[in-house]
Amino acid sequence: MLDQAQRILKDVFGYDAFRGNQGAIIERVGSGGDALVLMPTGGGKSLCYQVPALLREGLAVVVSPLIALMDDQVATLDELGVSAVALNSTLSADEHRDIAERIRRNEIKMLYLAPERLVQPRMLAFLQRLDVALFAIDEAHCVSQWGHDFRPEYMQLGQLAELFPGVPRIALTATADMRTREEIVQRLHLENAERFLSSFDRPNIFYRIVPKEQPRKQLLGFLAERRGDAGIVYCMSRKKVDDFAAFLSEQGFPALPYHAGLPNELRAYHQKRFLNEEGLIMVATIAFGMGIDKPNVRFVAHLDLPKSLEAYYQETGRAGRDGLPADAWMAYGLQDVIFLKQMLNNSEGDERHKRVEQHKLDAMLALCEETRCRRQALLAYFDEELPNPCGHCDNCVDGVQTWDATEPARQALSAIYRSGQRYGVGHLVDILLGRDNEKVRGLGHQHLSVFGMGKTLAEAEWRSLFRQLVARGLVDVDLDGFGGLRLSDSCRPLLRGEVSLELRRDLSSKAPKPAASAASQLVRGEERETWEALRTLRRKLAEEHGVPPYVIFPDATLLEMLRSQPASLSDMAMISGVGARKLERYGQAFLEVLQGVATVAKSPSDLRHELITLARAGMTPAQIARQLACSEKNVYAMLAEAIGLQQLSLEQALDLPEDLLGEIQEAFLDGEGELPAVSAVAEQFAGRVSEQVLYCVRAALQVEFEL
Ligand code: ADP
Ligand code: ZN
Repeated sequence: MLDQAQRILKDVFGYDAFRGNQGAIIERVGSGGDALVLMPTGGGKSLCYQVPALLREGLAVVVSPLIALMDDQVATLDELGVSAVALNSTLSADEHRDIAERIRRNEIKMLYLAPERLVQPRMLAFLQRLDVALFAIDEAHCVSQWGHDFRPEYMQLGQLAELFPGVPRIALTATADMRTREEIVQRLHLENAERFLSSFDRPNIFYRIVPKEQPRKQLLGFLAERRGDAGIVYCMSRKKVDDFAAFLSEQGFPALPYHAGLPNELRAYHQKRFLNEEGLIMVATIAFGMGIDKPNVRFVAHLDLPKSLEAYYQETGRAGRDGLPADAWMAYGLQDVIFLKQMLNNSEGDERHKRVEQHKLDAMLALCEETRCRRQALLAYFDEELPNPCGHCDNCVDGVQTWDATEPARQALSAIYRSGQRYGVGHLVDILLGRDNEKVRGLGHQHLSVFGMGKTLAEAEWRSLFRQLVARGLVDVDLDGFGGLRLSDSCRPLLRGEVSLELRRDLSSKAPKPAASAASQLVRGEERETWEALRTLRRKLAEEHGVPPYVIFPDATLLEMLRSQPASLSDMAMISGVGARKLERYGQAFLEVLQGVATVAKSPSDLRHELITLARAGMTPAQIARQLACSEKNVYAMLAEAIGLQQLSLEQALDLPEDLLGEIQEAFLDGEGELPAVSAVAEQFAGRVSEQVLYCVRAALQVEFEL
């Protein structure tokens, strides 16, 4: 059977090998056994029932809770030449009859439908008269009342066991915890199911968590390296979503807002655009995500802290389903902690429930302040042990410095205590640094013994310290008031000098920039042009067929085309993701692009426009050159021109040290009247500043003095 499965994998799906447990699962279900499949997002769950569906006689019935998801799968199968339909409420009675007729004639291989539709007596009776190949129950955790996605309709799926005794059933989910697992088995009567548990690690995701300083600037810095990539930016509030979506658009990053406060049609429209277009950024609350199957989401950025590691794992997990490099990035600060603690405190529910939530938040905070490998910590929370540090998270790559914060921490605690346990971090830092301002004076706090005791640390270091004290629960936040800090019981041993405290040293954003993470290196500079041409063709075909681009070919397949440069259709057939049907439909067109016949070059005005946006987003000339695949010299020339036309300021174009800039300006402004030519001052700066930089400075002076 495995041979036959392998053939289907290659011929229909175009893939060479099964991943992880896929082969074993397919063998089990293909031969009529039940299976419970726990596999992370992107692990390849769909093939686990699609291949057995093709192996077995009869109709495969797939239960899924989301219409968008079903439509996506049907479109994908359609492109592969597999006949599949989704039943949903938008179909007319006539269309229904037509589908039923085609099913009876065995013309349809896979039927997707929502659970409530499947369990209708008429539907069950209809299916009982047919030959059913298998039942696949996707998102099976929806049967669990403990999870967040509980769907009462799922409870009724248990009856399938009795009604269809000989038909194999496969339940699939990306939710791993023990309790959910047992509930699935029990409620769906899967006592005889073989269990397939995969690692929940997402090795292609690079994790990074940074202290929140200036979130807008930090986000732009992160995005600058990921221009043209699709991603999700999560914010807590609707207002923040709207603000950031507008801000990113202004900065030249195509971004759309998504939250529950938007009209339904608009939300649906934005979601559709996100799926169908490339390189869009969705700025969203957590209302966005469930059922987003887009495989090439290249990053997930959090501007606010999720309230648990379960949520963090799920949200970041939407990046990189296609297995290509992807980033999970988060900026996190004291305000997040205060806000979430306040929410928790004001939430409904009994004490026990609150304690559970508190515990979850603490685990999330611990990950933020983690000094060891983030991936090890994350997986450990889900009871999975990763033997070695991953080498693919910020802590592994940048290293974490810790410092002995025992003494400063005691000073901080003392400042809280002596000022009456009611002030926020800002004021406490003022006291420690000995700032003699109005508020301090008004309260007489300049007389406190701790006043000015903390001058050995900088303000940012104090803030980092306070944040970590709160995150570790050594200090409590006044939850009803204005974020005043109080001592908690657990700080006493520290205060009494019985324990010491090691804290994480925050990497200042001014420190040398850490190496760009994996996602931005997907396509190298010289490949960019061909890559864009391949994507343009894919976009065009997708529009013609009315499907999202990744349904035509996933990024991984395009990337392999780019790298292996197939020269013929038979070369093309070797590429992973190119099955027989797609080869026939699209092979030739993609070959032609690769051979340069159909490449569309960028027009000079497009190039300028892009250059300006990139410079405004804070990219250096070298980065811009790489991004636009042109020479650095060319970039400088265009920058000087843009400065002259007042499309860019000098600061936006170049990052020159203050004193050097002053010196250059002086050199130009030395004489009377006209500015000297670059060649006249070049010698003075030989070996220090390139002529190209001088052109830019000169252009800025020209604008400034209207010369
Ligand atoms: P899940 O439902 O578990 O999140 P999918 O079934 O959507 O994952 O698969 C994720 C991606 O991996 C899809 O683009 C799919 O085509 C691809 N994929 C799955 N199995 C294989 C395989 N054996 N070889 C290559 N690509 C695969
Ligand atoms: Zn790591």
